[in-house]
Amino acid sequence: MTFKHLRIIILLLVLTLLAGMTFWERWFVAQWMRPLQVVVYPINGDDSEYVQHYIAALTVSDFNEIGTFIDQQSGRYRLSPIAAPVIRLAQPVLTMPPPPPASPASALDAGWWSLKLRLYVWRNTPFWQSLGQVKLFVIYHQGEAGVALAHSLGLQKGLVGVVHAFAHDTQNAQNNVVIAHELLHTLGATDKYDAQLQPVYPDGYAEVDGAEPHYPQRAAEIMAGRIALSPSRAVMPASLQACVIGGKTGYEIQWH
Ligand SMILES: [Zn+2]
Repeated sequence: MTFKHLRIIILLLVLTLLAGMTFWERWFVAQWMRPLQVVVYPINGDDSEYVQHYIAALTVSDFNEIGTFIDQQSGRYRLSPIAAPVIRLAQPVLTMPPPPPASPASALDAGWWSLKLRLYVWRNTPFWQSLGQVKLFVIYHQGEAGVALAHSLGLQKGLVGVVHAFAHDTQNAQNNVVIAHELLHTLGATDKYDAQLQPVYPDGYAEVDGAEPHYPQRAAEIMAGRIALSPSRAVMPASLQACVIGGKTGYEIQWH
């Protein structure tokens, strides 16, 4: 056996191990046997002093309502209650995650990007401790009124989310809506809005009572992310208190 063969064998072993761990991690978390572990890694998205101050003032209590929300909502579906999720706030990460490929991305581009993201996670989080933990990289921006932030994302593979959020105290409650949405993606939940960002009936509606939706809805289904006020108009909820986890989402995250 030559050195080249050995290298290929080692590479295959590493890839197999990685695939095995990814699978195990996903399965383990989906059982809800122990409290869901979530770690928030803040990132200064503008490289500005303003955002740095905001991040320095963050405490774990700024994210507590995410845990409360998941805990409360589970009561609607689970026969045996789950333990409340544990959310922790890590030290800021100083580098940005690799930007996702422009859509539509080829399978190769998507695969390459996902490998780069895994490498980024591996470099910026404690390896053993992070197994079975959902790792959310929250990139904070000062932002401009009316200018949308880049798309956030949550991946089941590797339990990783990349969230773009506003660095303003008045936005904390809405940031938590976005963070909870991406967190649920990492647990297997799918989006429930259409190309116009309008919630899809019935799975994307909070209040479902019959064949036709009624308007205005008073709350948002978290994976639709918006409250439908009419068939063509929907708004962001102000906080997680105006959100629910709908039946389909509950099913997708194994609450059955
Ligand atoms: Zn989504």
